[in-house]
Amino acid sequence: MIRIGIGYDIHRLVKGRKLILGGVAIPYSKGLSGHSDADALIHAICDALLGAAALGDIGEHFPDTDKRYEGISSVKLLTRVLALLKKRKLSINNIDCIIIAQEPKLILYKNQIRSNISRLLGIKESCLNVKAKTNEGLGELGKQKAIAVYAACLVEA
Ligand code: MG
Repeated sequence: MIRIGIGYDIHRLVKGRKLILGGVAIPYSKGLSGHSDADALIHAICDALLGAAALGDIGEHFPDTDKRYEGISSVKLLTRVLALLKKRKLSINNIDCIIIAQEPKLILYKNQIRSNISRLLGIKESCLNVKAKTNEGLGELGKQKAIAVYAACLVEA
């Protein structure tokens, strides 16, 4: 049986934080703020995977009020989500995502992000697609106040 999942996340861009997307540190004057390392891409992928498995959302599994997750690398959260899927004998068919970032330009990092996440998930690079786009200068996203990510996945039982 094939199951679909979607995920979404948004984090504010602030001074004094590292910008981490897909577990990759990206040079930029600001980073994403949050309880963990605020890796919005991994969070959206986690939610897509949890959604496909009908396992709720990332906030239920890793509450942002829990000290254990303060400053945690989201790579660890992704690994735990993957373990939850494996336990239920669900395997990832493919994942597609869209990063909406007015800045920085992510074209130079997309391949690195893709190979990092596919390695973490144990899937082929051809099973993961990462798209990046600006918000055409519109709204808060367009004014570099935040980065948002959408993710979709198919998993197979
Ligand atoms: Mg998040």
